[in-house]
Amino acid sequence: NPPVPYVPQGDLRKIILNIYHDSAANGAHFGRDKTIPKIKQRYFWPSMYKDIDNYIKSCIPCAQFNPRRQKPPGTLKPIQPPDGVWQLVSMDFHGPINPTTQRGNKYIISLTDILSKFVITKAVRDNTTLTAVRFLKEDVISKFGTPRCILTDNGTHFTSTMMDELVKQIGTTHLYSTPYHPQTNGQVERYNSTMDAKIAALSNLRKTDWDDQLPFVTFNYNTSIHSSTRQIPFEMMYGRSPVLPFDHQDTNVTLSYDPEHSKKLKQFLSTLNEQAKINIIKNQERYKQHYDMNRSNPTYNIGELVLCKTLNIRYKFDIRYEGPFRIVKQLTPKTFIIQHAKKPTLYRQVTTDVLLPIFERNF
Ligand SMILES: [Zn+2]
Repeated sequence: NPPVPYVPQGDLRKIILNIYHDSAANGAHFGRDKTIPKIKQRYFWPSMYKDIDNYIKSCIPCAQFNPRRQKPPGTLKPIQPPDGVWQLVSMDFHGPINPTTQRGNKYIISLTDILSKFVITKAVRDNTTLTAVRFLKEDVISKFGTPRCILTDNGTHFTSTMMDELVKQIGTTHLYSTPYHPQTNGQVERYNSTMDAKIAALSNLRKTDWDDQLPFVTFNYNTSIHSSTRQIPFEMMYGRSPVLPFDHQDTNVTLSYDPEHSKKLKQFLSTLNEQAKINIIKNQERYKQHYDMNRSNPTYNIGELVLCKTLNIRYKFDIRYEGPFRIVKQLTPKTFIIQHAKKPTLYRQVTTDVLLPIFERNF
């Protein structure tokens, strides 16, 4: 190899890095494995490997556009299962489902009890706040009572307008709600991939009557053993075994009165609750282990610069991460308010799963 010039400390090193990484003709934002040989053939300075590494790691366009081969950062923090049924429920819209049914239904709204996994569903025409409120009023509260807290996944704005509307329609409630974040709330398995698959199977053949099937899909789900709790949601909800349409039934109707009934029922239900809680925790641990494997868990401090995942990528060449943003406030261990470094009026509330740390450049 012919001898190459020694580059003294100072701006010259930075200019070389810039030429062989940032310029279109010489570098084109290739990674370290391509950039190091290029520079090594032409120049030398003692810390060149370390400097090239740092320069590329801290390159903002690279972080913004390169597809990430690693899993998104942020390990899971499972939440404690609730102590009883109807204390914590989650509500979701699914859809739009294709095809729209003959009655014009496009979405499924569902409410899942986090402890028992009992699900209530309804086929609906849209995914608006008013539809959610009507569902809560007619299909949840008036039939099952008021849950203590609802997790919603449609963001803070949806959550607050929904609660305002609910109060307007039924008066004061002691129902609380909070936006749901998969990574922060951990694996609250919700209305599930199982149900989704069943609906898909039912609607797959361009069937426009999936809304007719939905009550039975839901009933079957509620009357089957759940993989996480190892209990039957229906039993945890009602304290008795479900009778399926094909099940044999005694033709005699018992009219005797059991004075111990209520006590027995309470005992039965509290055993089910305890078992379900133990099984949920075991299941969460298994899931966390798998989820966290090979996943980084960066921590963020106020003032640090980050990039934020682009919400909807429409085109292949759209920016995948926007920014830089500065962390300005911490709301929960994994929720932050960030402010755009160049557009100071642009704020966003984010969870750490959509953030990427920006490495500081040592030049
Ligand atoms: Zn780059």
